[in-house]
Amino acid sequence: MALVVQKYGGTSVGDPDRIRNVARRVVETVKQGHRVAVVVSAMSGETDRLVGLAHDLGGEVPEPRELDVILSTGEQVTIALLAMAIGRLGQPARSFTGAQMGMRTDTAHNRARIESVDTRILRETLERGHVAVLAGFQGTDDDGNITTLGRGGSDTSAVAVAAALGADVCEIYTDVEGVFTSDPRMVPTARKLERVSYDEMIEMASLGAKVLQIRSVRFAMRYGVKLHVRSSFTDTTGTWVVPEEQVMEQLVVSGVTYNRNEAKIRVRGVRDVPGIAARVFSPLAQEGVVVDMIIQNLSQDGATDLTFTVPRDAFKRALEVTRTTCGELGAADVDGDPNVAKVSIVGLGMKDHAGVATRMFQVLADEGINIQLISTSEIKVSVVIEEKYTELAVRALHDEFVDAGAGEPVAES
Ligand code: ADP
Ligand code: ASP
Ligand code: MG
Repeated sequence: MALVVQKYGGTSVGDPDRIRNVARRVVETVKQGHRVAVVVSAMSGETDRLVGLAHDLGGEVPEPRELDVILSTGEQVTIALLAMAIGRLGQPARSFTGAQMGMRTDTAHNRARIESVDTRILRETLERGHVAVLAGFQGTDDDGNITTLGRGGSDTSAVAVAAALGADVCEIYTDVEGVFTSDPRMVPTARKLERVSYDEMIEMASLGAKVLQIRSVRFAMRYGVKLHVRSSFTDTTGTWVVPEEQVMEQLVVSGVTYNRNEAKIRVRGVRDVPGIAARVFSPLAQEGVVVDMIIQNLSQDGATDLTFTVPRDAFKRALEVTRTTCGELGAADVDGDPNVAKVSIVGLGMKDHAGVATRMFQVLADEGINIQLISTSEIKVSVVIEEKYTELAVRALHDEFVDAGAGEPVAES
C-alpha cells in the first residue's frame, strides 16, 4: 500500500464531467490499495475571473488581504464538488480548505510561503480509509488570515502535503502528458521528456515553463519528493522529476522556454563610482520589484549605462521609481521598453559542451533577431529579444537543439 498525493490543475477540473473523471481516477487509485490525498485547483478560468471581479470594483489596486479572501473561494468550490463526486462513486471523501487542514504560511498576501503543514487531520482521514480532498493555493497565517501562494501555487501545496505526509509519490495531473522539450502549444514538434532533473526543472520553471510552479520543484528537491507530471486525460506515463544522477540521457538542451512577462529599463549617463548600483536598485527592492538581468556598459568619461529587466506587470512602477532615483543621481536619461521577451535554453549537458551559447546566438542571427541582453549559468543561456519574435526564436532554437538531433545524449566515452 502506498500513500499517494495527486494534484489536479484547473483544466482537469474545468467542468462537472471533468470533475467526475477525476473522481474516477481517484477511486481507481484507492481500489489499487493506496491511500490518497488529492489537492485541487480552482476550475479553469475561475482565478482569473475572481481577480477580474476585484479589479472591476475600480479605483485602487485590490487590498492584498481581501484579494486572498476572494481568490481562495475558487479552490473551495472544487474541493466540495470533487468530494461529492467521489462520494457518489461509493468512496467516502472529505474536503478541507487550507485553514481546515492546517496549511500554515507567512503573512505575505498573494505570494505567501508555506511554513508548516499540520498532518493530524489528514492522517486521521486517510487512516479511516477516506480520501482527503484539499484546496490548493491557500493557507492561513498565524493570525488566521487567509493567504494564497501566488499563481500556480496548487503545485506547491501538493508537494508540501506530500513532503509532510512522507508520501511515496506526488502526481501532478495536468492538461499535457508531461514536461516537454518546449511548450507543446507553441512548438508542435516538442516531445515529452521521460525524466528531467530537479535543477533543470527549476531553471525551466523559472524561465517560463509554467507546467510546474518553480517553488514546488524547489520544495520537492529539498524534501526528496518524487514528482510525476502526467495527463489527467490519458493513462500514459508522464515525466519524472528526479535527482540529477537518475537522469539517464543528459541532453545538451532539454528545454527551450520563453517568458513574455518581461520589460526592460535603461539608465543612461550615470556616474561610474562605487555605490551607484546600490542606489539605483535599493528603491526598487523596497517597492518589491524583482530585478532579473542587469548589464552595465563599459564606462566612458566617468559615466556608464545600466540596463535591466523587471516583470512587465511591474514596469510602470519600476520606471517611475528609477526616474526618481536617477533624477537625484543626475543621470542623463531613463527609458524603457515593455515589449520584450526572454527566451532560454536549458540543459544539464551544457556543463560539458562548449559553444552552445554561440550556436544559440547564430540561430537567432540567422533569423534576423537582435539580442538585447544575455545571461548565462552552468545549465542555461537566456536572451532578451523583441517580443514579437518570441515564437520564431523558440521554434528555431527547438529546431536546432532538439529536432535536429543536437540534443542527443552526451556520453564521456
Ligand atoms: P494546470 O492548470 O494543470 O496547473 P498549467 O496551465 O499551469 O496547468 O500548466 C500546463 C501548461 O503548461 C500546458 O498546457 C502547457 O501549455 C504549458 N507549458 C509551458 N511549457 C511547457 C513545457 N515545457 N512542458 C509542458 N507544458 C508546458
Ligand atoms: N488557481 C490558482 C491559479 O490559477 C492556483 C493553481 O491553479 O495552481 O493560479
Ligand atoms: Mg499550474
